[in-house]
Amino acid sequence: MASATVAREALLDVRNPRTGEVDLRLPISSRVEVADKAARLRAAQPAWEAMGVGGRCAAMARWLGAVRARAADIGEADAVDTGGCHTSYLQGFITMRNVAGWLEDAPKAFESLKWEGVSISMPTVAVESQVVAYPLVGVISPWNAPLMLALLDAVPALFAGSAVLLKPSEVTPRVIETLFATVREVPELAAVFDYVTGPGEVGQAVIAEADTICFTGSVPTGRKVAVACAERLIPCNLELGGKDPCIVTASADLNRAATAVLRGAVYATGQVCYSIERVYVDKSVHDAFVAKLVEKARAVRLNSDNPRAGHIGPFTFAPQAEIVKRHLADAVAKGATIVTGGEIEDIGGGLYLRPTILTGVNHDMLIMQDETFGPCIPVMAYRDTEEAIRLANDTSFGLTASVIAGDAEEARAIGRRINAGGIFLQDTFLTFAKLRTFGSDSFGWSGYGSPRIGPESLRRFLRRKSLLTQTGPVADIQNDHHLGQGR
Ligand code: NDP
Repeated sequence: MASATVAREALLDVRNPRTGEVDLRLPISSRVEVADKAARLRAAQPAWEAMGVGGRCAAMARWLGAVRARAADIGEADAVDTGGCHTSYLQGFITMRNVAGWLEDAPKAFESLKWEGVSISMPTVAVESQVVAYPLVGVISPWNAPLMLALLDAVPALFAGSAVLLKPSEVTPRVIETLFATVREVPELAAVFDYVTGPGEVGQAVIAEADTICFTGSVPTGRKVAVACAERLIPCNLELGGKDPCIVTASADLNRAATAVLRGAVYATGQVCYSIERVYVDKSVHDAFVAKLVEKARAVRLNSDNPRAGHIGPFTFAPQAEIVKRHLADAVAKGATIVTGGEIEDIGGGLYLRPTILTGVNHDMLIMQDETFGPCIPVMAYRDTEEAIRLANDTSFGLTASVIAGDAEEARAIGRRINAGGIFLQDTFLTFAKLRTFGSDSFGWSGYGSPRIGPESLRRFLRRKSLLTQTGPVADIQNDHHLGQGR
């Protein structure tokens, strides 16, 4: 979505989301610089891979120490980038958890990929496996949760033995330099981990150099990335948008449901891929649910006075406010009612929107079809469970979904029929709960490729080889019965 013009010696204007001012100008990496960095990383990667997972863990443990020492600075820098999102201040801690988690998981993941045995089809052939890292992984990341979404892919790629070239969003590039101050404290790591800055064209330059790509961002850009990777015949993993639903049944505890829906929809100003963007409520409790939701929504405070106080901050990317405005106007023009919120406020140059609840919505409206990425909660009444499930599945996306019912069994029965990768029962926003333990796939436009979390996500950066040894006599061309041996 963000764009700028690449020119020789061009500088990147970085807008501060709280003031609206351009308060940072960064050089835009040229194609030659991207190619030079890629070549340097590629040259260093074999030594990194040769260290083995144990050697890399030792280096990453030292990096963990450096991150720990700068955790507060990392959080502050991320908060300037995002405008003061709650999770920004936790980014130092989240990075530490990410690295510490892979310190435990990576050796086990490598162990689980080892295989040795005898061919079933040809018993005289011994088989052993070898895993080889893709030499250079390109990571292209978005402006929401800028550090976390860059490192979710970069960290396991490094543990796998790859070198990583990162292209963060031009909207939020500050935190990356703060992070790299810690990377440079570990020379072996600095040799295989670097970044470039600039707009989408720089992302394309990274694709031109890498052996595999991890992209997080919007569906339209994801398509361009997939096409560019296809042209080069390199794999790509795409983590794209969402339009995640929540179903609230007649038997649900409405207070609990309203609390969970509000948090799931407006956390980080709704700029989260798995935000709740559509709510379906049994018609018998629709009005009571909306009343509770409105009451709670009106108690949410902006953080305009102090980024550490308040509950939600400004839009990180100013054009996002225009998209949200367009969705709201479209909904109202088609008959929706805005019950609370709805006005974009310019406070000291930052663009804010209070939690905005809409009723009388339907699936002809943009706000029920396209990703809004703002603190908006359209609520629609449903007649019966079949209709709720049909509405929840009436989407091009399928990242996550939530169900809040009278009991977990009722919620589970509904959740099992919804097409999405993460199904949250009796709450919303449980993505963090599944980190590390296991990954899940995305449905529809929400993703492409293998899961990005869980131990098996390391596989995205590894190719498996089979070494096949003939232990018996070799077959001759005139008497070639070897294919029948194992039957
Ligand atoms: P974009 O798709 O606009 O950008 C993502 C990244 O791609 C940015 O670094 C961007 O650079 C870069 N880029 C832009 N054009 C190209 C191109 N032609 N080739 C290669 N790279 C390019 O996404 P946003 O930054 O707006 O992020 C918000 C989106 O990310 C939302 O749709 C959200 O749902 C999704 N997202 C998905 C998640 C998931 O796990 N499924 C998690 C979080 C967000 P630049 O910004 O510098 O233009």
